Amino acid sequence: ALCVGIVGLPNVGKSTLFNAITKAGAEAANYPFCTIDPNVGVVEVPDERLQKLAEIVNPQRILPTAFEFVDIAGLVKGASRGEGLGNKFLSHIREVNAIAHVVRCFEDTNITHVAGKVDPLSDMETINLELIFADMETVERRMERARKGLKGGDKKAQQEVNLLERLKSAFENGKPARSVEMDDEERLLIRDLHLLTIKPVLYVANVSEDEVANPDGNPNVQAVRKFAAEEGAEVVVISARVESEIAELEGEDREMFLQELGLQESGLDRLIKAAYKLLGLITYFTAGEKEVRAWTIRKGTKAPGAAGVIHSDFEKGFIRAEVVAYSDLVKAGSMNAAKEKGLLRLEGKEYVVQDGDVMHFRFNV
Ligand code: GDP
Repeated sequence: ALCVGIVGLPNVGKSTLFNAITKAGAEAANYPFCTIDPNVGVVEVPDERLQKLAEIVNPQRILPTAFEFVDIAGLVKGASRGEGLGNKFLSHIREVNAIAHVVRCFEDTNITHVAGKVDPLSDMETINLELIFADMETVERRMERARKGLKGGDKKAQQEVNLLERLKSAFENGKPARSVEMDDEERLLIRDLHLLTIKPVLYVANVSEDEVANPDGNPNVQAVRKFAAEEGAEVVVISARVESEIAELEGEDREMFLQELGLQESGLDRLIKAAYKLLGLITYFTAGEKEVRAWTIRKGTKAPGAAGVIHSDFEKGFIRAEVVAYSDLVKAGSMNAAKEKGLLRLEGKEYVVQDGDVMHFRFNV
């Protein structure tokens, strides 16, 4: 399953946030593809469209789609040189698809800050530099090998050396690999390096409980926003402490608590949505009497690949798909009405599935 790693310096609120995630978390039994591990929290992706679809088809159950958050503790200054949990920590980051970088913005004299004061800019730089140092080492090792290939006049080796040089010079300027422009071919060349700083990142600004309604009054939050904007990264402002309280509540109690805080939506829900977008994911639906269900695919996936998320047999034996766009189905009011209006399409193997498509697959067994 796809996963987002939660990183940040010690004492910034990672565990508090992760506890909120597991408390609010999904019933793992519904998601057999997910990892069972105390450091992994499975979250359901909130999607208002599921409820609407359920009103149309009256299913026995509704099942949102899910993905994983992984708690990656132990990053300290010097991790790339093996300090703290050092290398172990870095190998955990290699395995995630994206990074949620938690930054402390709350002031609290009772809670020590590892660097002595709350300073989001310096915190973000510290973590980013550790990841860049680790990538620099990886790139330098590969460079030695690629240089040997040069002697044989290998064209591919030349291309590789050029790319590695560009990466090195970005690292020397404190810039991550994701800031280096690459074409698809180049991306493929270095895919097996599993660079840490090539992964998409979003910043989570952790504010105190009395700031959630108006977080931009906190200059630390503004500093995070400015830093993130320069990278083209997204910022989600939350109060980890408040999130752990919200996660304990359900239904009306939850709504009331959110209202008291002046929030429309929990920070966790906003974080989940932002992470989903960051991963380049979209949702399609299946809607039958047994269940209305959301499924996750990467943008650009074709119909057989989308079917394969349900079952590999669906992909292998794919014949075609019946597709109706979510908005068309809602406008028509029922599956039959959609059919009569000609809104139900038959699509083949080359069809690129769109966000919100309601799909029914035909396949050979
Ligand atoms: P980690 O080391 O990054 O996992 O940080 P923790 O989640 O253990 O948090 C460190 C300390 O900060 C704990 O005492 C938390 O209760 C506290 N903390 C976390 N979030 C908040 C917050 O939003 N407001 C305040 N005042 N304290 C917080």
